[in-house]
Amino acid sequence: MPEQLITVKEVFLNNNCPECFSKESLQLTFKQKFIDTRFYKSITKDVFTEMHCNICDTPIYPQRWTEDIERVYDYQYKAFAPKKPSTKLKQLSWVLTGFITALIITATVLTVAYTV
Ligand SMILES: [Zn+2]
Repeated sequence: MPEQLITVKEVFLNNNCPECFSKESLQLTFKQKFIDTRFYKSITKDVFTEMHCNICDTPIYPQRWTEDIERVYDYQYKAFAPKKPSTKLKQLSWVLTGFITALIITATVLTVAYTV
C-alpha cells in the first residue's frame, strides 16, 4: 500500500475510561497520512486520531466520550502541530525526468538536422 498512516504524536489523558473507569489509561494517538510510492514520497495534511484504553484494551469511539474527554480532545487537537505537507521526488523520478528530457533534445536535434 502506498498510503500509510504514521503515528506523529501520542498523549496520555488524565480522564477516566468510559468503559472500565480506570484513571490515566486513555491514550490519544495522532496519525498523519503519508504516501510512499516508487516515484515520490508525500506527507498529506490528513490527520486522523484514535483513542484507546490501555487497561481494558478497548478503542474509545467519539460516541462514548464524556464532556471532559471532548474538552481535553479539543485542547489536544488544537495543540497538535502536524508535519508540514510536502512532496519529495525520489531518485527514480529524477532519472526518468532526465531521460525524457534527453530524448526530447535528441528528437529535436535530429528533426532539425534532417529538415536542413
Ligand atoms: Zn478502559
